Amino acid sequence: MEYLAIHGGKPVRTKPFPAYNVIGDEEKEAVQRVMDSGILSRFLGSWHSDFYGGPEVRAFEEEWANYFGVKHAIAVNSCTSGLYCAIGASGVGPGDEVIVSPYTMSASATSTIIFNAVPVFADIEPNHYCLDPASVESRITERTKAIVVVDIFGQPYDADAINAIAEKHGLLVIEDCAQAPHAKYKGKWAGTLGDIGVYSLNYHKHIHTGEGGVVVTDDDELAEKVRLIRNHAEAVVRNKGTLDLVNMVGFNFRMNEIEAAIGRCQLQKLEGLISKRITNADYLAKELSKFDGITAPAIREDSIHVYYIQCLKYDESVIGVPRDLFINAVKAELPITELREGEGVNMSVGYVKPLYLEPMYQNLIAYGDKGCPFKCPIYKGKTNYEKGLCPVAERLHEKELFSHEFIRPSMTKNDMDDVIDAFEKVYMNRSTI
Ligand SMILES: *Cc1c(COP(=O)(O)O)cnc(C)c1O
Repeated sequence: MEYLAIHGGKPVRTKPFPAYNVIGDEEKEAVQRVMDSGILSRFLGSWHSDFYGGPEVRAFEEEWANYFGVKHAIAVNSCTSGLYCAIGASGVGPGDEVIVSPYTMSASATSTIIFNAVPVFADIEPNHYCLDPASVESRITERTKAIVVVDIFGQPYDADAINAIAEKHGLLVIEDCAQAPHAKYKGKWAGTLGDIGVYSLNYHKHIHTGEGGVVVTDDDELAEKVRLIRNHAEAVVRNKGTLDLVNMVGFNFRMNEIEAAIGRCQLQKLEGLISKRITNADYLAKELSKFDGITAPAIREDSIHVYYIQCLKYDESVIGVPRDLFINAVKAELPITELREGEGVNMSVGYVKPLYLEPMYQNLIAYGDKGCPFKCPIYKGKTNYEKGLCPVAERLHEKELFSHEFIRPSMTKNDMDDVIDAFEKVYMNRSTI
């Protein structure tokens, strides 16, 4: 028997894993080009030709739209702000409900609250972790206006089923594609599967501009509303002649020229990075699922999963040790990753707590202390954020799921073999945990 690192034994590896650094000479030259121009942003928050931003922003948008075969791409300063624009453009407001996944980054749901609508959480699929169509349908009321679907972990949502439900009930589908650029569903790009899609370009995502996001849609009207909300709508509508004033309360969600110039380079790298990520994910899935009780991710039929993170299922009844203890023991065998030193070993259990269990929902306190939007008198429904609401999401969070980022393209086969060795060591010695 070997001593596990949690018991003071020698860890499998201490040398940090290599950084995932996708910034190269191309980006440096692009930034230099912008610096030399002296124009770091060209947006004006009024009805003027610069309302749509400067040359890099416009070129980036055009290139993104061409790449993903979509009519409009609108650059914003984060996916969060892109989701705010998308919900606003959908006309969602006080009294409305929006169906959303509880198993996602918080902003997928908060975007509805920004417009004083109430998020209603539907449960997720037990194997693909995206919104479960049957649960979505069961949550629809006369107040429902939209569905925010999430391509969680890099896997597209069940677009045929959910789009059909949306069409039947006259709802818009907003696709949070932050974790799935370049994923595909039946030959179609994730992000373009619903009415509006939103991508993230933050540091942790597949490609990044530091912070950033892109909204895409084929709908001219939705696109123009997104552009207005991005850039001070209320100060623009009069001169622009916009008649529909719903949600024309603008923000400043503008991307600057430096980020756009970087984004243009990053887009060129996306395909190569995704292909390495998939190779890594396939290797780790194959090797880690050799341990009885660990199950590789299920991939939706006719889809391409792009692995923002890799999630595996853990069966305590087979392994005989609670998930959290087992994963802690594996983490103790492994090093941190360069450029993300403060985050510890890039592995975790359960992903996020189902969002409705967070304090904002449990206490019904968002804006002010009077319960808005949850108890708003215009809202005729009744919120339900009780524990037990989405049993699949709760079970995955509490017991079954663990995730890691060792699929990043910077990881070599040797690096991944250290991960596999760590699992093997802990697995073989699990009776000592
Ligand atoms: C990262 C992420 C976001 C937010 O992206 P930002 O660009 O950081 O605002 C939203 N939704 C999901 C699912 C994400 O993973």
